[in-house]
Amino acid sequence: MLLELPRYPRLVNDESEETIRWPDFSIACPHCGNRGEEGGEWEVNAWSPFKLVEEVIRTWLFVPLREEDGSLLLVADTGSDEVDWESGANLRFECMQCFGQFALPEKVKVDFDSA
Ligand SMILES: [Zn+2]
Repeated sequence: MLLELPRYPRLVNDESEETIRWPDFSIACPHCGNRGEEGGEWEVNAWSPFKLVEEVIRTWLFVPLREEDGSLLLVADTGSDEVDWESGANLRFECMQCFGQFALPEKVKVDFDSA
């Protein structure tokens, strides 16, 4: 017998995403009009109608080399990859229906829950 995978395998908080009535929160994509309605096209792409997106800074150690034609080649050491999570900037929504991005409302708090 095959185990049925839960539709929402990872819960962001105690409340199952299944119980979230997204349209009640008036988050609407200005590009395609997605409001997170149940059965919407976004369900094909993700478990949640919207994602939060931000830019963080990654850094690598690298070695400079000379190519045969004299141009510069930088070889980045992927083992030295560091992500500066504190550098997060430009937080915004990504619509999981059209993948367009749009600004958060002005009055919103974001709590990064690492449960
Ligand atoms: Zn959209």
